[in-house]
Amino acid sequence: MESKFELQRVTGARVTDADLLADLRAVAKQLGQESVQQKTYRRLGKYDDTTCSRRFGSWNAALRAAGLAVSNEVGFSDEKLFANVLVLWQHYGRQPRRSELAIPPSTISQSPYLRRFGSWGAALEAFVDFANSTETEAPPSAPNPAGAGRKTGRDPSLRLRFKVLQRDRFTCQSCGASPAKAVGVELHVDHATPWSKSGETTLENLKTLCSACNLGKSDLAPQT
Ligand SMILES: [Zn+2]
Repeated sequence: MESKFELQRVTGARVTDADLLADLRAVAKQLGQESVQQKTYRRLGKYDDTTCSRRFGSWNAALRAAGLAVSNEVGFSDEKLFANVLVLWQHYGRQPRRSELAIPPSTISQSPYLRRFGSWGAALEAFVDFANSTETEAPPSAPNPAGAGRKTGRDPSLRLRFKVLQRDRFTCQSCGASPAKAVGVELHVDHATPWSKSGETTLENLKTLCSACNLGKSDLAPQT
């Protein structure tokens, strides 16, 4: 019995993805680095390094999944950097802190932000400028069965989602819940008039709902 864990690992029984990622992060932390080289992990890691790369497709993909920096990566696009900021802003219901880049749901560590913008504060400013800049919503990317003549695609852009959340003060418009006030509240941006019922993807027709209210609504008026 006492060798149970040992046996599982030696015989290659599946360790979970979460175990692998947690150990990658642990080794990075031990090194005081944002990234871990595969040969270094081979020496210090708890699991087989090839298991990590196989499971996630490549060593770099494993690093990315762990929220670590990819050492040879030239850089993330601004769009990717901003998308991660929005994930955090939505998750916390407030301006995210630099330290929160290191933990899920963030998938990008602070280094790429500092390289690109110089500081976390400057990165946030750039994000807000980007989000508040005017845009025309992209037309539907593909013909859709809901009918021709739609002005907008189904999924709101990053900018539009941020504008809706900001207008609604990161608060569920049905019950008032906010992740800033209660842990575990998850916010969604949802169509008031369902897109399937010809509701457009516009600021006016989008609203912030928590997952509980969003599900409740779906039960009452199932979207097809
Ligand atoms: Zn709610």
